[in-house]
Order: sequence, then structure tokens, then C-alpha cells
Amino acid sequence: MKIFDYLQEENYEQLMFFQDKDVGLKVIICIHNTVLGPALGGTRFWNYQTEEEAIIDALRLARGMTYKNAAAGLNAGGGKAVIIGDPNKIKSEELFRTYGRFVEGLGGRFITGQDMNITLKDIAFINEETDYVAGVEGKSGAPAPVTAFGVYRGLLAAVKEVYGNEDLTGKKVAVQGIGAVGFGLCKHLKEAGAELYVTDIVEDNVKRAVDELGAIAVDKDEIYGVDCDIFSPCAMGAIINDYTINDLKCKIVAGSANNQLAEPKHGDLLKEKGILYIPDYVINSGGVINVYEELQGYNRDRAMARAAAVYDSVARVIEISNRDNIPTYKAADRMAEERIAKIAKINNIYR
Ligand code: NAD
Repeated sequence: MKIFDYLQEENYEQLMFFQDKDVGLKVIICIHNTVLGPALGGTRFWNYQTEEEAIIDALRLARGMTYKNAAAGLNAGGGKAVIIGDPNKIKSEELFRTYGRFVEGLGGRFITGQDMNITLKDIAFINEETDYVAGVEGKSGAPAPVTAFGVYRGLLAAVKEVYGNEDLTGKKVAVQGIGAVGFGLCKHLKEAGAELYVTDIVEDNVKRAVDELGAIAVDKDEIYGVDCDIFSPCAMGAIINDYTINDLKCKIVAGSANNQLAEPKHGDLLKEKGILYIPDYVINSGGVINVYEELQGYNRDRAMARAAAVYDSVARVIEISNRDNIPTYKAADRMAEERIAKIAKINNIYR
């Protein structure tokens, strides 16, 4: 792998390797861009098969955070860390505290938090050694309610664009995945008068939505083809793909799941089909907004108010998509890049 070619192509600032043999720690920290502020991004613990796979994941995820944080209007850049190894075998207090020391050593250029296979307990160990960690127990708390509210607000902006008003009364919404975010979203939608069609691989989750919210249960493979206004993916990624795209009967795709498009071409195809796709990293930014609030002294009301502004971010993406006649997934990247460029210019002024 030609690392510097890769770094130069996407203009990465820094790629770092840290290790401690005694505690079994191998960690890669990648900082993509810090124009807007310190690089903010979670730490993932994963049993990568090769070191190259881990490097590529760190690079890809760090760049993703630059765009996500910029689109969310945060004064934070993009970074990510990956710890290599089997989380079930090598996790320990000393491993996380060693990692915390390395993060501390970066002097605030990188602020981390939870990602896959990192628990609140692990975060607490990291926090023993550094304050450059967010999502600490007793501070910002579970992000899902804030994410769900942000998704709801973004979905309203999409409805406004397609139907001319934000009225959800009688609108049919098909929700895939009734977990922490999906259920929270369903509650907002129900309150607003929407009709819910839901699916999940866990039967109890479906039952809860049926019993408590009057949702209609749908088979997991049939959710794509529900004759509805909005399809809301809140489970896993790559669900807009060659197999599902032709089933869609909705006018809008707007949900919390990460990486919804299997490939970029599916974003183009949605536009061709006249379906408004709300880019995942813009609409699901409530989680990172919530964590960011913690860095300024956490206040739940302020976090919710900021998450409400996901509406404006989504509206802006739609505006750019219409302005430049490009699919929304490209418009989201353009919105983030435009913000970074504008702020970079401000930073040129000596103060
Ligand atoms: P969760 O694990 O609580 O919920 C996911 C739900 O999807 C579960 O109930 C699971 O059973 C269900 N599911 C899994 N595979 C399915 C399938 N094939 N068909 C139907 N249902 C299936 O997770 P969550 O926190 O609610 O997150 C949901 C999505 O949103 C994930 O993609 C996550 O990465 C993304 N996201 C979450 C947050 C957050 O704050 N929690 C923030 C940003 C993005």
C-alpha cells in the first residue's frame, strides 16, 4: 500500500501508529482534517484480518468524520482510531489506560469516544488518563434519543420539499430496525400523526411498536416494497442496493443507518427514480452533536436544540442539490466542503 499517495489523494493530515506489547495494544489514529477544530471521532475495536485492512478503515472513517462534523455545523474536524485485536480476548484496564495516555499525548488534536466494541467502562479507563474523550458516563448519556430527534427533524425538511408542507398526518412511513433510534423516531412520527409500518429481526422490538404505537408489522424482506411516502432505514448499511432499489415505492428515503447506499451509483439511481434521498451522515448527526455538547459542558436542552437544526442542514443539502442539479449524496459532500473552505478563509485573518 502506497501510504503517502493515499494520504495525498484525500489530503489527510496525519496517520499514527501506537503500540505497547506488554498490554497487547496496537492502535492506529488517523486525523483527516482539522480546519474546523480538533479531530473528533470514535475509537473502534475490531479484529482486523490484516494491518492494511485496519489502516484503510481508519482512513475511511476519519475522512467520513470530517464531512459529518462539518455538515453538522460543529467546530470539529475529522479523525478516527482503530484498535486491532479481538475485543473479547484482549480488553483490559491497562490497555485502555495506555491508549488514553497516547491520546493525551496528542494534546487535544484528537478527541475520541465510543464506536464499535467500545463500552462506557472502556471509555472510563481512557478518561482516567485523558480528558480528550467524550461520551463519558454521567455526562452526555445515551445518544440515541438525540439522534432520533435529529432524524425526525431532517425527515420533516424532506417532507416539506416533496409535499410543500411538514404535515405528517396520514403519511405512511416504513421503518426498518426498531432499535434505540428506530423506536425513538417512531414515537416522534406517531405523535405527528404518521402511519407506521415496521420491521425488525427481533420480534419483541416489532411487538413493542405494534402494541405501544399502533404500528403495522411487516416481514423483514417486504419493508422495501411497502407502498409508503417515506422509507426510513434504521438498522444496517448498504440497504439501497441493486436488489432493493427497484422495490422502493416511497418518495423519500430518510433514516439513521450509516452507509445506506451500497455504492454511490445508487444515489444517482434514486434521483433518477424521483426519490429524495437524505444523506445518512447529515440526518443521523444528532449522535455526534450530542457528544460534541459534552465538550462544552453538557446540557441536554442545548443538545436537543442543536439536533433540531438537522432540519436546516437537510434543507441546505436539498437546496445545493437543486442549485447544482446533483444527487443529494454529492450535495452533502459539497455542503461540507464549502463550509470547510469558508472557515479556512476566516482562519487566514490574524487575530
Ligand atoms: P440498535 O442496535 O439499537 O437498533 C438496530 C435495530 O435494527 C435492532 O433492533 C436490530 O434488531 C435491527 N435489525 C438488524 N438487522 C435487521 C434487519 N436485517 N432487518 C430489520 N431490522 C434489523 O442500533 P441504533 O443505535 O438504533 O442504530 C441504528 C442505526 O443508526 C445503525 O446503523 C447505527 O449505526 C446508526 N446510528 C446510530 C446512532 C445512535 O445515536 N445510536 C447515531 C448515528 C447513526
